[in-house]
Formats: sequence, structure tokens, C-alpha cells
Amino acid sequence: MSDTFQQALHATLPMLQKIQQGIKPAPKGSTAALKKLCEAARANPPKPRMPRSPTTLAEDPGSPPAPASGKWTMASLRKAVLACEKCPHLVRSRTQVVFGLGNPEADLMFVGEAPGADEDEQGEPFVGKAGQLLTKIIQAMGFERSDIYIANVLKCRPDMPAGESGNRKPKPAEMATCLPWLGEQIELVRPKVIVALGATATEGLLGDTSPMRDLRGRWLEFRGTPVMVTYHPAYLLRNQSLSEKRKVWEDMLLALEKLGKRITPKQRAFFTKAAA
Ligand code: SF4
Repeated sequence: MSDTFQQALHATLPMLQKIQQGIKPAPKGSTAALKKLCEAARANPPKPRMPRSPTTLAEDPGSPPAPASGKWTMASLRKAVLACEKCPHLVRSRTQVVFGLGNPEADLMFVGEAPGADEDEQGEPFVGKAGQLLTKIIQAMGFERSDIYIANVLKCRPDMPAGESGNRKPKPAEMATCLPWLGEQIELVRPKVIVALGATATEGLLGDTSPMRDLRGRWLEFRGTPVMVTYHPAYLLRNQSLSEKRKVWEDMLLALEKLGKRITPKQRAFFTKAAA
């Protein structure tokens, strides 16, 4: 069943049911026909909405208004995001907005889900233990942190219930509200490859809620830019097995290949039994 037909079916079915209920006696055959449509609708629930691709941000109704000059620069975008108050509950709880940082002309961009407590305090993405591991991954790829660009889908730390510490996952609605800012950042950096870190970041960026085992290791796309999904470094801190580290490394090898970077035999063998 095509996506268009699926959407049309879900949009019109409630209306058809109302019409049928309003006609007395019900037209012959309509009950059976509606029953069949209901079964088809149940068997084909609507798919989650994916971002349009490719899209110029000027056409995107979700985009923040461009500055008076008509074009964002990284400095004007940063200024606007730091002053953003679209989510009052996060404005109340945040220490500061975590805009993102790195090379504004990077070929490679990492996208996480949201700042945690450390990032909220320091104003930089990926500075806690998971961030330190991300730095090691970046260096194993042959880069320095300053070579690449790092940002989150959500720019403000998700608030925690009073008296609770730790971090919580951002909600889909929160990420959808903030996504236009990330879209503008990506539009400015124009990376050749985006690496999405973890299922939550992938949901925020691509609207795809598939499990990680189905997402990682293959190329997806955000408005025409190739996206490789891999596990969040925090997952690797919890699961330190060679096989999980190797999965992330295989995703990074694919990213390096896409970037046209030379890969040494030593790099190819990282996290295999031969290299251990
Ligand atoms: S999370 Fe994003 S959209 Fe919400 S207030 Fe912070 S910067 Fe603005």
C-alpha cells in the first residue's frame, strides 16, 4: 500500500464512518465495505512523518525567521539561539543554551540528543565522560575535535523533576521545537557526512523511531546530507564489550570511506580480536 493511499485512508475513514452512521437505513453493502477499510487501516498504521528532503530552509515553515539581512551567519544564528525562549520550561531550568561548536566548515558533523548536566554547566556539547569517549573516537578517526562540528538536536538541557539529579531524554515535541535551529546550523556548516549518536538523536533529526539494530551501519539522509547512525558514546560506557565497540568503529569506517579519507590497515583492524 502506497504512503499516499495510507494517509488518504486514515484521513477519510472517520468521515466515511460518520456519513454511514447518519444514513438510515444504511446503504446496502456499505457496512461490509467500511469493515474492509477499517481492517486495511488497522493493518497499515500511518508511518511517522520524515523531514522533507531536500528542502531549502527558506521554504521550511518550521525554520526560524531569517535575520534582516536575509541570511544567517554562524554568529547571528548563535546570538539568536542563545536568546531563544521557545520552551519556557527549559528556559526556567537551563543554566545556559548549548549552541554547539567546532569547525564551521567541517566535513564531518556529530549530532547528539541534548545537553546533560555537564554540558549545561560548561556551555559545550559532549564534555562529560561520554564526551571524552567521543573525543577518543574522533582522534581514532584521524581528526581533532576542532576539525569537526558537534551539536545537539535540543539546545537546552531537559529539565528534571524537583529534587532529582541526572539527565532525562528529550521528548519528541521538545526536539521538534528546536530542530529548526539545528537545520540552520547544518545549512551553514554543509558537512559531507553527519553522524547521529543514538536512537534519540536519530528520532529528533530524522523522525525515525526504528531500533538501533536497524538504523546503524547504513546510509540515511537529512535534507540531502548522508547520515550514519551509531550508538551514543554513553552506551559504550555501559557496554564495554569488544563487539559493541567494533560496531561503532565499523560505522565510523563507513563515514571515513564516504569522506574519502585514507584508512590505514591498523585503523581497519581496531576492536577486532586480531588487534586486541
Ligand atoms: S530547547 Fe531549543 S527551542 Fe527550546 S528554548 Fe532551548 S534553544 Fe529554544
